[in-house]
Amino acid sequence: MLDKNVVELLNAQVNKEFYSAYLYLDFSNYYYDQGLDGFGNWYRIQAQEERDHAMLFVQYLQNNGERAELETVDKPGVELTSAKAVLEEGLKHEQYVTSLIHNIYDAAYSVKDFRTMQFLDWFVKEQGEEETNAEGLVKKFELFGDDPKSLYMLDNELGARVYSAPSLVL
Ligand code: MG
Repeated sequence: MLDKNVVELLNAQVNKEFYSAYLYLDFSNYYYDQGLDGFGNWYRIQAQEERDHAMLFVQYLQNNGERAELETVDKPGVELTSAKAVLEEGLKHEQYVTSLIHNIYDAAYSVKDFRTMQFLDWFVKEQGEEETNAEGLVKKFELFGDDPKSLYMLDNELGARVYSAPSLVL
């Protein structure tokens, strides 16, 4: 049986991951609206990944005899002011999600819940990659975003991203 506090945090994370999906879908819509279809594609896939993350938390709770309680998903609460600002908001959000994952890990660690720690290991690694990707996008935009030709090429590059299912299977 899982610790009550750990279950509550895992359950809250389901909502946070769905919120991330919602937020990134909003980012995607913003970019498509701006004519930056490659950025739109990149964030639409990002939204799919976040939905996958939510489903993994649901599945993990199920596998441990707990039923996920679905809460209201907030409206995306970030004002999208420019193509670059959106990328910066994306990085900030990933850093926030990392702190949430670390917080659950900490709770699991404190009650010697090794099973949940092992489950979360994948997410710890995943968050490292997410932050690196988000940082990379901000850097690339800083380098190339002001030049229309370079921005066009960067947009094409991001348009080539294809969805792949998460490597974690429960
Ligand atoms: Mg996620």
